[in-house]
Amino acid sequence: MFFNAMSYCDISNSQHPMLAYETALQEALASVSVKSCSTSIPLSQALGKVLACDVLSPMDMPPFSQSAMDGYALLAQDLESSNEFRVVGKSFAGHPYSGAITSGECVRIMTGAVLPEGCDSVIMQEKVTVNGDSITIDSEVKAGQCVRAKGHEYRAGDVVLKRGTPISARHIALLASMGFKEVEVFEPLTVAIFSTGDELIELGEPLAAGQIYDSNRYSLIAQLEKLNCHVLDYGIIPDCVSQIERAFSQANSEADVVITSGGVSVGEADYTKEVLDKLGNIEFWKVAVKPGKPLAFGYLSDSVFLGLPGNPVSAMVTFDKVAKPVLKKLAGEADSPQMLLGATCKTPLRKNVGRLEFQRGFAATDERGNLIVETTGGQGSGMVGSMCAANCYIVLPQMQGNVAAGETVMIELFAANLQA
Ligand code: AMP
Ligand code: MG
Repeated sequence: MFFNAMSYCDISNSQHPMLAYETALQEALASVSVKSCSTSIPLSQALGKVLACDVLSPMDMPPFSQSAMDGYALLAQDLESSNEFRVVGKSFAGHPYSGAITSGECVRIMTGAVLPEGCDSVIMQEKVTVNGDSITIDSEVKAGQCVRAKGHEYRAGDVVLKRGTPISARHIALLASMGFKEVEVFEPLTVAIFSTGDELIELGEPLAAGQIYDSNRYSLIAQLEKLNCHVLDYGIIPDCVSQIERAFSQANSEADVVITSGGVSVGEADYTKEVLDKLGNIEFWKVAVKPGKPLAFGYLSDSVFLGLPGNPVSAMVTFDKVAKPVLKKLAGEADSPQMLLGATCKTPLRKNVGRLEFQRGFAATDERGNLIVETTGGQGSGMVGSMCAANCYIVLPQMQGNVAAGETVMIELFAANLQA
């Protein structure tokens, strides 16, 4: 994998062990397995769900040999004796020709209609001359041309889609073509979410001195909904041991996964850590990633816990780059390949050695079709505007320093995260 290839060793010092991003992700992924049960649902409701078993083709596809064009069906070999054919009938979509043709005969045929017995090829109507009940063919004919043969794409029993596939419109097209009215999918995960912090205020309330709006819960819920999770919104929990404990206990009993933001950095983590030490088995990590260094991950008695940092960009990025892969695995989704692209960086980038950075960039293609990228400017972990101005991450390896304009960098398009 890219991150390993760039040799992300764990960097530690005695006081603050720091995990490489890839190590943290792999540890988190290795410690979870599918949590969702499966259920059968109508295909019309399957968009965005995850297939819970392999899908086998119930029939040959196409189910019968058929014409790919409007034209005339005949046996190509017959052209050796004559290029004139008598039209003996019609085969239209849904109305097959009954009977077989013999030498010198052909059948008028439409796209999708059954290829009549005795025929192996179709001549496009544009390539024949019609004279009453006969046609003359002047072009060359290759046996099998313009025919979609029975079983050409799939044979009955072939595995056509794998367990773990997230269902998109493309998959729905295939499943519908095979007649699946229902599909077996994983049930959505139930995810409880809350924000921690005495400074946080609910939208719609006026701000007093030192207060800010709780934006993380909205951004994280929006990301969870895209993942097709069932969300339990517990609101804002103040920095108070008893209230934090109550929220965690309730979330643990009601949800498969508990996600919080804020309160996991050193010092401030005290309450959360105190509560979580009682309720579960949680690691407080410092991950060598920017934005996002502090992160908590582990198990409560009945749920998986992910504690994201409070800074809004850090919360979003650690959700995307750590929580999301974990949630996908829990929800039964198969691994998707990493999609990093090389792009010429048009602007210099500031970068300290020591942490992998997901900087925000805007990518495009130049007039020759080559990928180029530029920074969105300030990269502070509280600057949500840098996410809004971006359409990709610029992924800068842990040991990378500053980047000069004109150098090649790796980018990950946000669109690559979306299910088409
Ligand atoms: P913390 O991780 O709790 O130390 O918070 C780090 C920074 O993120 C602080 O500036 C917090 O005010 C801010 N922050 C924490 N939680 C939220 C939230 N839910 N929405 C917006 N900002 C937050
Ligand atoms: Mg806080």
